[in-house]
Amino acid sequence: SKALVEAVVENVPLMIFLKEATDLRFVIFNRAGEELLGYDRSALLGKSDLNFFPPEQAAFFMAKDREVLDGEADILDIPEEAIMTAKKGQRLLHTRKVCILGADGTTKYLLGISEDITERKKAEEALLEINRQLEEATVRANEMAAKAEMASVAKGEFLANMSHEIRTPMNGIVGMTDLLLDTGLNDEQRRYAEIVRDSGESLLGLINDILDFSKIEAKKLSLETLDFDLSGLLEDFIAAMALRAHDKKIELTCVSEPDVPMLLRGDPGRLRQILYNLVGNAIKFTDGGEVAIRVSLAEKNENDLLLRLSVRDTGIGIPKDKIGLLFGTFSQVDNSTTRQYGGSGLGLAISKQLAELMGGEIGMSSEEGKGSEFWFTARLGRQAEGAQAIRRPPADLRGVRVQKTVLPLALGERDRAEPAPRRIAARHAARERLNMFAGRNANILLAEDNIVNQKVAVAMLKRLGLPSVDTVIDGYEAIKALESIPYDLVLMDVQMPKLDGFETTRQIRDYESRVGNHEVPIIAMTANAMRGDRELCLNAGMNDYISKPVSPKALAEALGKWLPAL
Ligand code: ADP
Repeated sequence: SKALVEAVVENVPLMIFLKEATDLRFVIFNRAGEELLGYDRSALLGKSDLNFFPPEQAAFFMAKDREVLDGEADILDIPEEAIMTAKKGQRLLHTRKVCILGADGTTKYLLGISEDITERKKAEEALLEINRQLEEATVRANEMAAKAEMASVAKGEFLANMSHEIRTPMNGIVGMTDLLLDTGLNDEQRRYAEIVRDSGESLLGLINDILDFSKIEAKKLSLETLDFDLSGLLEDFIAAMALRAHDKKIELTCVSEPDVPMLLRGDPGRLRQILYNLVGNAIKFTDGGEVAIRVSLAEKNENDLLLRLSVRDTGIGIPKDKIGLLFGTFSQVDNSTTRQYGGSGLGLAISKQLAELMGGEIGMSSEEGKGSEFWFTARLGRQAEGAQAIRRPPADLRGVRVQKTVLPLALGERDRAEPAPRRIAARHAARERLNMFAGRNANILLAEDNIVNQKVAVAMLKRLGLPSVDTVIDGYEAIKALESIPYDLVLMDVQMPKLDGFETTRQIRDYESRVGNHEVPIIAMTANAMRGDRELCLNAGMNDYISKPVSPKALAEALGKWLPAL
């Protein structure tokens, strides 16, 4: 067993030494010790620390030895002991010193065991340093996130303001151009005016996209929940796209599976927006051929369903390696297509976000040169059976007439399964006709502070056969006018100086105010085309809402709905 102890002492990777209790000279010194200190044991044995270490350090070691030997402590643990070695320079040891008694009970030897912890310590320190840096980086990242958050809020506000500022003159440009196009122009003038109108419209589309995108990013976009008829939405949609498709010699078709219910609840505007992006792209990237919309059910529950809309085209298709980029922002498959086809690269990114907001997904498949198929799903509510023929506006709106929308007779059958998919054809969209309101002799009050926009509105009304329009420039004047004159309808700008459209409406609806007719129909016109503004307008007591730039068609529709019948 002596041989065993010797073998262990010799081979253990710790420095082990034994010193005489009397004069602290080395009696045993192992191999790991030789390696650590860089001395041969033959040089060490019979000598003391004084022969190998600087005097101060030797004195320190020996003082510690004495503490143990004098019985102050049986075992002394020195967790971190710095020593200077001849070969390896500065080392850090963890040392334990133990008193060894002889058979007679007197102290005979001092046993020392040391582990070289230099490397471990370095690693620990490096780790600590890394941790410290990480903490610093985290603090910095948090600061930056807070700044970015603030910047993002500021950006959102900036965009909302900018959108408003841009829309107001755009109303002038688009409105005036529309009016100009109705006058006697020669061919060249007409072409120029049409270009102005088209450029104005595409600029507006871009402003809308940027605004939507920033709202989605700032998580400020909320969806509306309205009852709507999907077949009507699709019919109108196809009617609106038909001309564009026709111009490119594309056959635009829309087919719905027989089991798709048509009376749904959700945000029809956003649904249409995604469809518009997908079908718009399909037409843009197809020259001659077919664009087919297919409506089906991905899932059907008692109260809701997952609607699937797919748009297949026979166009240029998309290379496989570019597909991954498609739904990102400002991404276009080929920058050269921007020049050829136009576009901002925002459409699909917005569509993806909208589909996800509606609890659905978006996806695509494509074969280069053959065509593409884009699809999306959206979770929508189902309207209760039965009570579908009449849709009422929310009951809490004052001065609101019940609006009867008589749906096509075939509707009852529609919700039942039919044997074959049905084809949805374009419904001819109601277009405003010249003088369509002539003979109504309606008096209209227009509250609008911008002079160009006043002119646009007055000219549009005149064209519709409504020449009797009084114009005021703020809410106070509007109320004053309504106190003395019985107008049939008010067109109200929302952002006006002094008294804005909301507050003005509240005062008109207030039975305590001196306004003659508290129920006079009020149609808001606002350049704040943020969705959700509609709610604000209706909650303030307005009857309807049209966004600027005011299109003659939207104006005619709103007037048709709210002007007293003949
Ligand atoms: P853009 O406003 O540029 O159309 P989108 O986000 O809608 O932006 O589309 C991004 C890009 O995806 C397009 O520029 C086009 O390169 C490609 N793309 C989208 N739809 C189609 C399609 N149906 N066929 C071929 N390429 C398409």
